[in-house]
Amino acid sequence: MANWRTLNRMRTGVGLTKDNKKKWGLLEGTSTTCECGMEQSMKHILQCPICPYSCTQDDVMNANDNAIDVVWLKPYEPEYDNLLPFM
Ligand SMILES: [Zn+2]
Repeated sequence: MANWRTLNRMRTGVGLTKDNKKKWGLLEGTSTTCECGMEQSMKHILQCPICPYSCTQDDVMNANDNAIDVVWLKPYEPEYDNLLPFM
Protein backbone atom coordinates (compact mmCIF):
# COMPACT_ATOMS: atom_id res chain seq x y z
CA MET A 1 0.00 0.00 0.00
CA ALA A 2 1.84 3.00 -1.30
CA ASN A 3 -0.29 5.39 0.65
CA TRP A 4 0.50 3.88 4.03
CA ARG A 5 4.18 4.03 3.18
CA THR A 6 3.71 7.62 2.19
CA LEU A 7 1.98 8.35 5.45
CA ASN A 8 4.79 6.76 7.41
CA ARG A 9 7.31 8.85 5.52
CA MET A 10 5.30 11.96 6.21
CA ARG A 11 5.34 11.09 9.90
CA THR A 12 9.09 10.85 9.92
CA GLY A 13 9.59 13.79 7.57
CA VAL A 14 11.30 11.75 4.87
CA GLY A 15 8.66 11.97 2.18
CA LEU A 16 9.71 12.44 -1.39
CA THR A 17 9.19 16.15 -1.39
CA LYS A 18 11.31 18.15 -3.72
CA ASP A 19 13.39 19.62 -0.90
CA ASN A 20 14.26 16.11 0.30
CA LYS A 21 14.98 14.95 -3.23
CA LYS A 22 17.38 17.82 -3.64
CA LYS A 23 19.09 16.87 -0.38
CA TRP A 24 19.44 13.29 -1.61
CA GLY A 25 20.56 14.32 -5.09
CA LEU A 26 17.45 12.84 -6.68
CA LEU A 27 16.00 16.00 -8.09
CA GLU A 28 16.27 16.63 -11.79
CA GLY A 29 17.28 20.25 -11.96
CA THR A 30 17.51 22.40 -8.87
CA SER A 31 14.02 23.74 -8.43
CA THR A 32 12.28 22.72 -5.22
CA THR A 33 9.22 24.69 -6.21
CA CYS A 34 5.85 22.99 -5.94
CA GLU A 35 3.30 23.22 -8.74
CA CYS A 36 1.63 25.94 -6.70
CA GLY A 37 4.80 28.06 -6.80
CA MET A 38 5.87 27.65 -3.18
CA GLU A 39 8.82 25.72 -1.76
CA GLN A 40 7.79 22.06 -1.63
CA SER A 41 8.79 21.02 1.85
CA MET A 42 7.25 18.33 4.01
CA LYS A 43 5.30 20.99 5.86
CA HIS A 44 4.16 22.50 2.61
CA ILE A 45 2.77 19.20 1.35
CA LEU A 46 0.35 19.18 4.25
CA GLN A 47 -0.94 22.63 3.39
CA CYS A 48 -0.42 22.94 -0.37
CA PRO A 49 -3.15 25.19 -1.79
CA ILE A 50 -3.43 22.96 -4.89
CA CYS A 51 -4.53 20.04 -2.75
CA PRO A 52 -8.26 20.26 -1.94
CA TYR A 53 -7.52 18.82 1.50
CA SER A 54 -5.04 19.91 4.10
CA CYS A 55 -4.00 18.51 7.44
CA THR A 56 -1.73 19.28 10.36
CA GLN A 57 1.34 17.50 11.63
CA ASP A 58 -0.86 16.16 14.45
CA ASP A 59 -3.19 14.61 11.89
CA VAL A 60 -0.22 12.89 10.29
CA MET A 61 1.09 11.63 13.61
CA ASN A 62 -2.34 10.20 14.38
CA ALA A 63 -2.78 8.90 10.83
CA ASN A 64 -6.34 10.10 10.98
CA ASP A 65 -8.78 10.66 8.13
CA ASN A 66 -7.57 14.19 7.42
CA ALA A 67 -4.04 12.99 6.88
CA ILE A 68 -5.18 10.10 4.73
CA ASP A 69 -7.23 12.43 2.53
CA VAL A 70 -4.13 14.50 1.89
CA VAL A 71 -1.84 11.56 1.28
CA TRP A 72 -4.33 9.78 -0.94
CA LEU A 73 -4.54 12.71 -3.29
CA LYS A 74 -0.83 13.21 -3.71
CA PRO A 75 0.32 11.85 -7.04
CA TYR A 76 2.00 8.52 -6.56
CA GLU A 77 5.61 8.74 -7.55
CA PRO A 78 7.18 5.54 -8.88
CA GLU A 79 10.51 6.54 -7.38
CA TYR A 80 9.12 5.60 -3.98
CA ASP A 81 9.74 1.95 -4.72
CA ASN A 82 13.31 2.61 -5.79
CA LEU A 83 13.92 4.44 -2.54
CA LEU A 84 12.78 1.67 -0.26
CA PRO A 85 16.33 0.42 0.41
CA PHE A 86 17.13 3.87 1.81
CA MET A 87 14.31 3.79 4.32
ZN1 LIG B 1 2.20 23.32 -3.31
